[in-house]
Order: sequence, then structure tokens, then C-alpha cells
Amino acid sequence: MTTFGRRPVLSGLLWTAALPAWARSTPANPDVVVVGAGSAGLAAARALIGAGRTVVVVEARDRIGGRAFTDTATFGMPFDRGCSWTYSVKGHPWRQMAEAWGYHLSGQERDDEIVYVGDREATDAEYALYDKAADQLEAAFARAGRAGKDVSAASVSPRKLPWIEMAEAWAGPMEMGMDLDDVSCLDWWLNDSPGARGVAEGYGTLVHQFGHDFPVTLDAPVSRIRWGGPGVTVETAKGTLAAKAAIVTVSTGVLAAEAIRFDPPLPAWKREAIEGVPMGLLVKVPLLFNGARFDLAPEQWLSYPPRGREACYFQAWPFDRDLMVGFMGGRFAWEISAAGEAAAVDFARGELRKMFGSAVDKAFVKGAATQWASDPWARGAYTCARPGRTADRMRLAEPLGDRLYFAGEAMAGRFSQTCDGAFLSGQAVGRELAARLT
Ligand SMILES: Cc1cc2nc3c(=O)[nH]c(=O)nc-3n(C[C@H](O)[C@H](O)[C@H](O)COP(=O)(O)OP(=O)(O)OC[C@H]3O[C@@H](n4cnc5c(N)ncnc54)[C@H](O)[C@@H]3O)c2cc1C
Repeated sequence: MTTFGRRPVLSGLLWTAALPAWARSTPANPDVVVVGAGSAGLAAARALIGAGRTVVVVEARDRIGGRAFTDTATFGMPFDRGCSWTYSVKGHPWRQMAEAWGYHLSGQERDDEIVYVGDREATDAEYALYDKAADQLEAAFARAGRAGKDVSAASVSPRKLPWIEMAEAWAGPMEMGMDLDDVSCLDWWLNDSPGARGVAEGYGTLVHQFGHDFPVTLDAPVSRIRWGGPGVTVETAKGTLAAKAAIVTVSTGVLAAEAIRFDPPLPAWKREAIEGVPMGLLVKVPLLFNGARFDLAPEQWLSYPPRGREACYFQAWPFDRDLMVGFMGGRFAWEISAAGEAAAVDFARGELRKMFGSAVDKAFVKGAATQWASDPWARGAYTCARPGRTADRMRLAEPLGDRLYFAGEAMAGRFSQTCDGAFLSGQAVGRELAARLT
């Protein structure tokens, strides 16, 4: 994977400074074991090292980055299989790192959206109806959110409006990775991720640059964590580590599947919190074309009224590349994932054919589909609080016995779901634990 330049020591970005030599080793008895080398785990490790603590990060995969992963092999160009958009809220770490390290960011926003009805573009009157539905849906969520109503987003939707299904498809499956009846309106409203910009070199590349020299043991899935004694012991496929504390950063999908056994078991309130914030799913279907552009501008979004739950919305030619990226979310995404990669590619290609005819098949080169649903180390894309369960995000983050800590996107407050949120959650827990350790 490419890295860009040398790691600079930047004022205000002290956590990006090169690791001291002592911190790069992986002792058998570190102060802290961090489980998972995604955004949260790397940030937690960096915070602990910054405070002079010894750390070993244990990672199940053969790479770091977790759900931040740039695939350069499939198409011979960077394609982010997981996160791709950085956000611009003040203090968001990944945007800051991208800018400081000279990465190239896209100017994409969803405002630039073209809507099709069958094989033609929507009329002005249809666009106006769609805009009205989208505005009113957002206003309804905001009203309920401001009032603290932790109810299903579907229950406050102005369902009778024409074009509401398309506005709902964007707000639920495409953004939250869940259908709106499974989404907490409050969770949707609390979520704050403006100013989306893609990373030309890849978001995964950026995360890899941050963590490439961290003390990580790869191919070391954790099977059990004992936390009943004065410290913790962490059993991995590559041996057992003893430490004063552990920070678990695996997804709630991995926790819910009980892929890691806790001894003693997690208390009932913690298991309930895990169940309250399940994984949503977003499937990306990148399709490579031979240069045909179907009159779509680079970065432009392409959508159409969904048929029931079936929808695949596209981003055309990110960074002016020959990829058209389809997105499917929510229940339909789980179904299409179960049907397999070829089915997802066929579906996306078929949707384009309905709009642009046989030109699609003539220009199509090859496609792929992301497989986060069946990925045993993720089990979904990102979390979404169930209606009535928004507070479970906070309960998820509560440590146990002063030695078992939790971090990750699921417990990142208003930045939940995002790679930035994961980082900020990991960094906060790392700092808190560093201060507590004697
Ligand atoms: C398709 C998709 C699109 C997305 N789009 C965006 C976006 O545009 N912008 C954005 O900000 N976010 C986006 N996200 C979400 C973002 O990728 C995540 O929020 C973030 O990467 C999560 O980081 P994390 O550290 O909390 O978890 P993870 O990245 O999942 O890290 C946890 C780590 O734990 C490891 N692990 C799991 N089980 C074990 C075990 N038993 N033992 C040891 N290690 C284990 C995993 O392999 C992983 O490396 C997207 C995600 C997906 C999947």
C-alpha cells in the first residue's frame, strides 16, 4: 500500500508524530492490550503510547485498518471497500491528517444528484416533488429529534407525500444502512457528518499511513478475554498476553456473535446495549466501464424511485475514474449479500441498463461487490441504534471493573458510524485509561 511522504510532526497533530522506538516492540506483558487495529484501536494505542504506556494491538486480519480499507488490486486504482468520505466537523482527525499529509480530496456533495424515471431524467415538476419530500422528511426527523423522541424514523415520516419513498431510501438504507422502521429518529438526528469529501489515494491508505509502524500483531484473532482477576489475560491465535487492562474495539456485530468469550461473561446490561446498537449494512458495487460516461459528470449521484425495498443508487466516476459505484443498504443489502457477489453486480448493472439501455453492456468491463455482511471480523458496515435504544451507545462505552474498556464507532456519540468517531472514541478511552494506570 502506498504511503505519502514522511510522517511529519505537526503542531496541533501531535498524535501523528513518529512513534518512539520503545513503543514499536510487542512485549508479552504490556500495560494494555488493544483488541482490533481499526481506527479506534490505532487511536487508543497512540494515546496510550503518547502517555508513556506500553501497548500491544492484536488484530484478527492480516492487515490494519479494519473497516477502512483501500483495494488497489481489483481495478488497478484505489477503491475504498469500507469508509470513503471524510467529514469536516472541527477537530475531525482524519480530514486534518489527509490535509496535512497532502492527500487529494474530492469536492463531492450529494447536492449534485440526477434522478431518473425509467429511461429518462425526471422533469422539473418531479424534481420539485422529490425535493419537497426530502425537505419534509428531514424536518420531521429534526422536530422529533429536538424533542428527544427516540422513536422509529418511519413513524414520523410524512408517508403520504409523493416521492417520499426515494427520500426515505436515501435517509434509511443508503445513509444509516437500515430501513427506516429499524432506525431511531433520535440517533439519526444526533448524527453529525457534514462536508463529505472522498480521498483520492483512499481513506484506507490514510489510516494505514497513520498506523503502519504501530506495535500490532496481525493474524491474531482474540478468542477469550479473562478479566476476573487484578488484570486481564487475552488469548489469541498467536498466544496469550497478560496486561493491566484491555480495550476492545471490535464491532457490535462481532460482540453480538460472541466471537470473543469473556470470562466472567459480560453483564446483562452490557449484552443488552450491544443488542440495542446492531450493525447496519451498506454494499458497494463498483462497476468498471471502458470510458463511456452516459452523460454523467464525475462525482454525480444517480438515483431513481425505488421499487419496494429494492434500490441501488450510484456515484458516477469518482475522481474522474472509470468506476460507477452502486450503493445498496438496509434489508435489501443483507439479501443481496446473501445471494452473492455476482448477484449484486448483476442487479446494479441491470438498474443502469434500465436507464441507459444496451450501451451499459457494451461498455461494461467488470464489477465487484463488498462483502461486509459475511466478513467475520465486521459482520456489517456500521451501527444504527434501534428505536428507543439511542442511550445504549453510552452504555456500550462503559468500562467494566476498571480493566475492560470498550471503544469504536458504535460509541462515538454524534460521530457514531464514522471513522472519525471511531478515532475520537479510541483516543478518549486511551487517554482515560492512561491517566488511571499507575
Ligand atoms: C461500506 C462501508 C462504508 C462506510 N463509509 C464510511 C464513510 O464514508 N465515512 C466514514 O467516516 N465511515 C464510513 N464507514 C464506517 C467506518 O468504516 C467505521 O465506522 C470505522 O472504520 C470503524 O472503526 P472501528 O475501529 O470502530 O472498527 P473496525 O474498523 O471494525 O476495527 C475493529 C478491528 O477489530 C478487528 N477484530 C474483529 N474481531 C477481532 C478479534 N476477535 N480479535 C482481534 N481483532 C478483531 C477487526 O478486524 C478490525 O480491524 C463505512 C463502513 C463501511 C463498511
